[in-house]
Formats: sequence, C-alpha cells, structure tokens
Amino acid sequence: MEPVTRIVIVGGGTAGWLTAGTLAAATRESDERPLEITLVESPNVPIIGVGEGTWPTMRRTLKRMGIRETDFLNQCSASFKQGAQFVGWVDGSQGDAYYHPLVLPQGYFETNMARQWLAGVSDGSFAAAVCPQEALCEAGRAPKAITTAEYDAVANYAYHLDAGAFSRFLQEHCTRVLGVRHVAADVTGIRSAENGDIAAVLTMQAGEISGDLFIDCTGFRALLLGEHFGVGFIPWTQVLFADRALAVQVPYPAADSPILPHTLSTAQRAGWIWDIGLQSRRGVGHVYSSAHIDDDAARADLRAYVHSIGGDAEALPMRKIEFQAGHRTRFWERNCVAVGLSAGFLEPLEASAILLVEIAAQFIAEQMPATRAAMDPVARRYNTTFAYRWARIIDFLKLHYLLSRRTEPFWADNRRTESIPESLTELLTLWREQPPWHDDFDRAVEVFPAASYQYVLYGMGFETRVPPRGLSSQARAHGEQLFMHNKQEAAAMIQRLPSTRDLLDRIARYGLQPV
Ligand code: FAD
Repeated sequence: MEPVTRIVIVGGGTAGWLTAGTLAAATRESDERPLEITLVESPNVPIIGVGEGTWPTMRRTLKRMGIRETDFLNQCSASFKQGAQFVGWVDGSQGDAYYHPLVLPQGYFETNMARQWLAGVSDGSFAAAVCPQEALCEAGRAPKAITTAEYDAVANYAYHLDAGAFSRFLQEHCTRVLGVRHVAADVTGIRSAENGDIAAVLTMQAGEISGDLFIDCTGFRALLLGEHFGVGFIPWTQVLFADRALAVQVPYPAADSPILPHTLSTAQRAGWIWDIGLQSRRGVGHVYSSAHIDDDAARADLRAYVHSIGGDAEALPMRKIEFQAGHRTRFWERNCVAVGLSAGFLEPLEASAILLVEIAAQFIAEQMPATRAAMDPVARRYNTTFAYRWARIIDFLKLHYLLSRRTEPFWADNRRTESIPESLTELLTLWREQPPWHDDFDRAVEVFPAASYQYVLYGMGFETRVPPRGLSSQARAHGEQLFMHNKQEAAAMIQRLPSTRDLLDRIARYGLQPV
C-alpha cells in the first residue's frame, strides 16, 4: 500500500494558495491524515493578477483556514459584494437594469415565490419583491454592521478583492500559520514513475521535488495536466464568444468616494464591462469577442466607460488578456489534478472561477485518497462531478446572453439556435411553463441555485406562463404576506446598516469581533 501524504502544488496564484490553505487546514483538523504540503511557484512567471469578484463561499473558505476577516479585508483592499447588477443587458434602453443578489428569496426553501410574483401579487422587479438586497444595494448599504461578528452577515455577501494582494496574503498565512512549505523555483521537467504517474517535478533552482499527489495550478499553461499528460481541451467558444479582456485600475476621485456594494456589469456592443469597487480603487475591465469587435474599438468603448465614471481614461494603462472559453476533457489524471485556470476558464460574468477553485480544493480535502490504489476511483468521481459543474456554469452564463433583445451582431449571434446548448434549450422549454426550482438540477450542492436562474430569467423579462389555473387565494395571501415582510425588512436594514465605505473605515480602525 502506497500512502498518499506528500502533496505538491505547482503554481502560486489564487488557485495554488487557496488549495494549499484548504488542504493544510483540513489536515490540521484531523490527526489521522498528516499531509506534507509543498507549493512550488515560479519566481519568473507572474500570476494572472485579475479575478476580483467572489461568491459567499469565500467566507467559509477563509474562516476554515483560520484567517481573521478583519486582516483579510484590511490587507487585500477587500470590500463586500452583495450581488451583481446587469445594466443594458435586456435591450440597452434607458433604465434597463436588474439585480442578481446573493440573498435567496423569502421562504425559498419552502415555497417557490416566483409563482406569486409572476401572477402579479407584487409590482416592481422580481429581485426587489422577493429579497431585501436590491434595496440595500440601491441605498449603498453594507451587508453587516461593526457589531456583527467576523464572517456573520445581516444580508448575505461575498467579497471584491485585490487579486495580487490576496495571493501574497494567503502565502503569508499558509506558510506562517498552516505549515505549507514554499519553494520559489521554475518547474522545467517531470520525472515519471514506472506506472506513468508523476514521481517528481524537476526545478531549475531547487532540484527535484517528489510527491504522491500533484496539483496543477500553473494557470492557462496547464504544465502538468495539459503539457505533460496531454489531456485535451474542450473549447466552448461556439456558445460563449468572449475571448479577450482589457483591464484597468481606476483611482477614486476622493478618499471618501462611495464604494459600490455590488459588481456592476454593463453590456456593450460586443461584450460587457465589469466594474468592481475595492477599498483603494475600482477594478474595471472590458470582456469582448474578437470576432465581433477589434481591440482598438474595444479599447475605445472601455475608455468611454472609464471617462463616464470620472477616470482619466487616456492616462490609465490598460492590460490585454487573451483567453479561450473551455475546459479540460478530464481534470484528474493519474496522480495529478488541475485546479484553477489550468482546468479551464469561462468569462468572469458570474465570478465562477474562484468559486470552482474553492469547490475543487474542498473536494480534494474531503476525499483525499489514503493510498494510491484509492486514487483512481476518487479521480473518476471528481471528473464526473466537475464535468457536470462546468456544464451547468456554461448554461447559466449563456442564459444571460440569449434572453437579450439587443440587436448588435454579437447579441444576435448569441441567440442563434446552434449556439445554445441543448440542456439549456430543454430547461427554457420547462421554464416557459413553470419557474426554476430545486428539482431542475440534480446535485445536492449546485454551483448556482434555482434562485440565481430566477433572478436572471425574470430580470431579463422572460415569461413563464404560470399559474395556468390562477393562484389559489391562499397562495396569493401567502405571497402578499412575504412580499410585505420583505419590504419591511429592507426598510429596517437600510435604517440600521452603515454605508460600505463607513463600515470598512471602522473595520480598519477597530476591527470586527472575532468569531
Ligand atoms: P495564475 O494566477 O495564472 O497562477 C499561475 C501560477 O503558476 C503562478 O504562480 C506562476 O508563477 C505558476 N507557474 C507557471 N508556470 C510555472 C512553472 N513552470 N514553474 C513553477 N510555477 C509556474 N475569477 C473569479 O472568480 N472572479 C472574477 O471576477 C474573475 N475575473 C477574471 C477576469 C479575467 C479577465 C480573467 C482572465 C480571469 C478572471 N477570473 C475571475 C479568473 C481568476 O483570475 C483565476 O481563476 C484565478 O486568478 C486563479 O488563477 P490561477 O491561480 O489558476 O492562475
């Protein structure tokens, strides 16, 4: 029996350090499975340095690693994210905007409140009717108060963070507190075992580093899974057309400028622009399809946006990043598993990449095979689970595009039947007659819950013909009650919660109460 105890992670970006921290924290909790974790990172290849939007899962991930939320917020220029607002996605007309908040609708686990909203029990937007978060975002409120303990929430939240600072912060915590060994060296080759496994990685500066399980976090290059094992890549460019991003960092005009409590995603003629509020600056970027617009025109659109938010568009440097939507055919091959960009990438419309890293690291921590013999079944299970997850994310991202009524060629192409996955067409057929609900998805833990689909569908004006026989008076009364309760809750939260900037300033001075 060959025990699996030596874990070698290659790559020190967000994926590498989150995986290292998650595994190290899990091994600390259990005396049965001591793991020796080494992270090898090139001192010459920079991390991608973008990736600033996250999901609420990040709170659990950081807490499990024993990180103080106050330290994280202060050192990563981080802020609170309460959802995303999509501007101009429906038809590009004046006032075209909807929210995808991070709070589930009132009574979500008992009742599908979309039925009541569709039957006109409440006027106003779907998100505003079913949860208080749209009102909080509109009022610029934080999702918690200074008296709320670390990681606790009054309204659900994730973070916006500075990707470079985050990797450095995680590195410091993982090496100092969690005992991860950090080796700054370029991996230049692989030594294979007789059975075809990776026995060791060969480095330029630190010799050979051997291990039992190798985690490929080398970014787009996919050095171990892609280059060494030759595991193929499935492009999804026929569904998701974006393949370029231009990123720019926009300073705030004043030290007390308000911080956006949500990600702003503004549709453009051939893509969309993200706008993320950090403590120290706004992170802004244009994601677009090179088949529909050239780089100069994309740059001009981004400049116009930066100008519209008060930035000096001509002076700020823009960084161009090229990518291809898609993922590996398998993610775990022999004794190597890819996590992060090495496993694949889809445009950052719903911040799914770091979320997938967290889910992957947690899966590996929970199902860490005890021996080499146990690794193959775990790998098969991992591959099936993650193929499902990627497919769901592709469907969900595509949903944002195909419901649009915008007329530019990029948007019209997004509605072409051949660009829409069959799985999504089938769900849309179902959703014409009934709103999305838990049974539409078959995993206990979905990447996006049914509520997320409801927020996008009804935010985009999708019509579900429900209820065909009218609402019962009981259901109507229940809806009225919940919608009223939601309004009152939103008003009460707005009264008692500070603005995001106020709260972050207070956290910097006093800190949050530790858990
Ligand atoms: P990288 O950051 O590229 O790290 C790769 C590591 O591998 C580096 O440390 C490098 O030194 C190392 N390496 C490479 N070659 C070698 C070698 N030979 N030897 C040793 N080490 C080596 N995700 C989100 O969740 N939310 C977002 O809002 C978001 N926005 C994005 C916007 C854009 C434009 C892009 C392109 C991505 C975005 N992402 C987002 C994705 C997110 O940035 C990544 O998922 C995340 O940063 C993880 O990257 P990584 O660690 O896999 O790769």
